[in-house]
Amino acid sequence: MRDRNNPKDDILYKKKLKANITKLKEQRNAVILAHNYQRDEIQEIADFSGDSLELARAAVRTKENVIVFCGVHFMAESAAILNPGKKVLLPVKEAGCPLADMITVRKLREKKKQFPDAAVVCYVNSSAEIKAESDISCTSSNAVKVVRVIKNKRVIFVPDKNLGRYVQTQVPEKDIILWEGFCPTHIRLTEEDVIKAKNNFPKAAFIAHPECKPEVLNLADHVYSTKGMFDYAKMSKAKEFIIGTESGMLYKLRKENQGKKFHIPTTHLICANMKLTTLGWVAYSLENMVYEIKVPDRVREKARMTLERMLSAMGKTTD
Ligand code: SF4
Repeated sequence: MRDRNNPKDDILYKKKLKANITKLKEQRNAVILAHNYQRDEIQEIADFSGDSLELARAAVRTKENVIVFCGVHFMAESAAILNPGKKVLLPVKEAGCPLADMITVRKLREKKKQFPDAAVVCYVNSSAEIKAESDISCTSSNAVKVVRVIKNKRVIFVPDKNLGRYVQTQVPEKDIILWEGFCPTHIRLTEEDVIKAKNNFPKAAFIAHPECKPEVLNLADHVYSTKGMFDYAKMSKAKEFIIGTESGMLYKLRKENQGKKFHIPTTHLICANMKLTTLGWVAYSLENMVYEIKVPDRVREKARMTLERMLSAMGKTTD
C-alpha cells in the first residue's frame, strides 16, 4: 500500500507508473504530447511539449496512430481537427478551459449580426464550434500578425479580452471589438505581485503573457507568448527573469537554460484544469484508450479551414 506522505513511497510509485506508461505507449503505438503548463512529471514523460498549436502540429508529424494529449479539451480538439485519421485521447475528460467556455455559438452569431462588416478572429483557446464560426484563428504568439494581415478594418476578437486589448495596442489602425472573456489563471496576477517580485529580484527582466491584465502588461519589459518566452530566455544575455504566466513553464525554462534563474511572481499562477492530468490518469488513458476526442465532420471541416487560414497567413509558421 502506498503511503502518500512518505516521499520514498511516492518516488517508487511514480517510477512504476512511468515504466508502465512506457510499456503501454509501445503496445498502443501512441505518442504523448504535453502542454507547457502540465505538471513536471507529465512534461518529463512527454515525447513532445509545447504550446497548443505547436502540439497540434507535432501531432500531424507523428507516425503513431494514437495521440495522448496532456492538456485541456480545446487543445485535444485542435489536434483532432488537424489529424482526422488519428485517435486523440484526453486522459481527464473534465480538463476543460474556463476561458474557452466564456463564449457560445449563439452569442457569437448575435455579435456577427451586429457587426456584419467585421472579421471574426478566434484565439485557439476556443472550442471547435467557435472556430467553425470564425474567419481565422490565432495564437498568442501570432495574434498581432493575424489581425494585421486580415483585410477587414473591423475585427471581432474572441474570447480573451486581454489578448484582444493587447493586440489593439499593437495594431491601432484596426477597430477591435472585444469579447468579455478572460483566463482565470492569468487574471490573478496583480500589479502588486509584480512590483513585489521586481523588488525581490531587481536584476530580473519581467516577461508577461498577453492574457494578463493591462496594468500588469504595463509593468512588463516584454510581452510574449509561452513560445516567445522560451525563445527570449534562450537568446537573452540576461541571467534572471520573472515569468508572468502559468507556473508549469518553469520546468522547461529551467531545464533548457541552466545557469539562468526564473521566478514566478505569485504562487497563485496555477491552472487547476491543467494540473488535473497525473501519471495515473495517463496510464489509465493508455490502458483503456479513453477519452477519445471526436469532432463532428460538419464542424471539423469549417474549424480546420479557420486554423489553416491562420497557418497560411503566417507562411506556415506560428511565430
Ligand atoms: Fe484556459 Fe487559462 Fe488554464 Fe490556459 S491557463 S487552460 S487559458 S484557464
